[in-house]
Amino acid sequence: MRPCQAQWLVLGDRQFRFRGSKVEAVLMPEGHKTHYLARQHADLLIGKAIAVSSPQGRFADDAKRVDGKTLVDVHAAGKHLFYDFESEETVHIHLGRYGTFRFGTLPPPPPRGQVRMRMVFDEGTIDLNGPSRCRVIGPEEVRTIIRGLGPDPLAGGKRQDVWATIRESGKPIATLLLDQSIIAGVGNIFRAEALFEAKVHPAVPGNQLDPRQFTRIWKALLRMMKVGLKHGRIISVTRSEVDRPLSKLNDRQRFRVYACDHCGVCGSAIATTSIASRKIYFCPHCQSQG
Ligand SMILES: [Zn+2]
Repeated sequence: MRPCQAQWLVLGDRQFRFRGSKVEAVLMPEGHKTHYLARQHADLLIGKAIAVSSPQGRFADDAKRVDGKTLVDVHAAGKHLFYDFESEETVHIHLGRYGTFRFGTLPPPPPRGQVRMRMVFDEGTIDLNGPSRCRVIGPEEVRTIIRGLGPDPLAGGKRQDVWATIRESGKPIATLLLDQSIIAGVGNIFRAEALFEAKVHPAVPGNQLDPRQFTRIWKALLRMMKVGLKHGRIISVTRSEVDRPLSKLNDRQRFRVYACDHCGVCGSAIATTSIASRKIYFCPHCQSQG
């Protein structure tokens, strides 16, 4: 099969669509990205005293609570990031649709844009712009957030636990996959790409799925999320489908169905529909409902 040529400009896992003179961001980071960032930031920051501030000011009061304290852990659950400090206080971040981190050198550079949180450590600066959540919380609240999430495939979540919920629901599988209380870390790209790989139509209700279909969806998700964690971006094609290493794929070659014009398997035009208020791409031939 051929990888598709995506219709839109894609920059990392941020994607932008041109609408007249406007440039519109259309992606939000999915679970592979939070785990990727947690590993990267754990390597850089654990065991160090971190100067935490908020150049923009919106996080200033919370920043003071952890400023200068030693970071003891960084961990991810679904799309949430947690930075645990020695004082049992935790910075909780959800990147939402627009949140991005930027690395800088020392001394810290002038803030670019609205820097909600700045972390300065012995080797550099990490700035966070545009998160949907950035606040300091205590251990009980961390537990509450994690308890509210479904199994996370990248954190040892179990297929049968997710299946137990999905098999009981009459909602479309594409809705269920985006529900973070059912399965944590899956976003709009992973759901489209996994359903395509599993040859399942996005509108099939959970309670009409065959267990073998769900197993195919789960395996596709797990594989893609692991590849995403390794490369720091979503890549749904496999090495055997492309003529170069996955790390060398440009951003127009890494998806099979998401933002694609034509199916690389059967050549049909890729269709779109809105499920759970988000656009989903699918192949009406390979993912037929009947
Ligand atoms: Zn097809």
